Amino acid sequence: MQIAAQPLQDDLNRGDDGTAVERTSLLGLSMEEVEARVTAIGLPKFRARQLWRRIWRHGQTDFGDMTELGKEARHALFQIFHADRPMITNRQTSKDGTIKWLIRCDDGQEAEMVYIPEDDRGTLCISSQIGCTLTCSFCHTGTQRLVRNLTPAEITGQVLLAMDELGDWPAGKADRRLTNIVLMGMGEPLYNYEGVKKALSLIMWGEGLGLSKRRVTLSTSGIVPEIERCGDELGVNLAISLHAVRDELRNELVPINRKYNLKTLIDCVRRYPVLSNARRVTWEYVMIKGVNDSPEDAKALVKLIKGIPSKINLIPFNAWPGTAYECSSKEAIDAFAKIVMKAGYASPVRKPRGQDILAACGQLKSESVRLRKSQMKALEESKENA
Ligand code: SAH
Ligand code: SF4
Repeated sequence: MQIAAQPLQDDLNRGDDGTAVERTSLLGLSMEEVEARVTAIGLPKFRARQLWRRIWRHGQTDFGDMTELGKEARHALFQIFHADRPMITNRQTSKDGTIKWLIRCDDGQEAEMVYIPEDDRGTLCISSQIGCTLTCSFCHTGTQRLVRNLTPAEITGQVLLAMDELGDWPAGKADRRLTNIVLMGMGEPLYNYEGVKKALSLIMWGEGLGLSKRRVTLSTSGIVPEIERCGDELGVNLAISLHAVRDELRNELVPINRKYNLKTLIDCVRRYPVLSNARRVTWEYVMIKGVNDSPEDAKALVKLIKGIPSKINLIPFNAWPGTAYECSSKEAIDAFAKIVMKAGYASPVRKPRGQDILAACGQLKSESVRLRKSQMKALEESKENA
């Protein structure tokens, strides 16, 4: 593998023969794994801890800057490790402050992440897969052919990259801009459970980024066995992409429902270990005109989740090219929201963010590819006309 060209500070950032060599990303390794590799090349264990702090607490990527490690150790560590971030290929800032980055992985695949600033928090929405194997009928990501899991390093890499961009180092500083993480970008996180688990462990561990599990939310279409594991092993907040309250309709909108139907899903969420009035499950419900947006649906929804500490998130459907669905009317959304509010759930309509830069739910990645293709076409045309 070729290491991407980047400004190198001094010869410490070169291999023995002066060329870049294949190195392992530190961003996806546990402390134990780093220690094992460090001692395997004959360095003392404490060098692993020093290196770890530079990477995870200070966000350093250039081994040349890690002076406390000593020149020889830095040189040896550079031979086997790197802390490179995914490459940013596009960055857009919305009028409302939302920032969207298009990032490229080593194999050229692209994913997006979005930062959403609010009064009391700053939320980073990250991806867990390139594409998605599930085929929810209203979701653009589900129409993409190519799918692969993101590696733990690619998942943590998104967060570290956002912290670089937002000036959030050292980790845990008081006025940090990134305070919350949601796994609501591309992909089904519970179909990449091991990768997500490892990445979240690094993000949540005190000596990693130290982000509280209360500030991490995982959104799933309802992979029941992994929801159980997620509750037991990670204890993060849960968001469920519900979207329908009858099996017949949910089979169509969220086809995984054929495997784990509503009763199985609701029973499993009811048992989710960390739920309380302070930590409620979020039910995501995309509002699609004439499909799932009637007052009867709203009443059935509140009945279905009765007794579970819940928040309801009504998401206006974001249309994409080729979809047969339309977003519900404002009146239908208001009427639906009113029924939900009457049942005791506060302000349930999700405010669309970053719409001017196509950063809204279900618009991720494929739209950018489309935009960039059309931009390229315009560029080619301008060249031809020149
Ligand atoms: N695969 C996971 C997480 C990613 S999708 C899941 O399905 O939960 C994040 C959220 O965006 C989900 O609730 C999903 O249903 C919603 N979404 C997908 N396409 C959408 C669209 N076109 N308009 C509005 N929301 C959409
Ligand atoms: Fe996959 Fe979620 Fe889209 Fe369904 S809604 S296709 S699970 S990303």
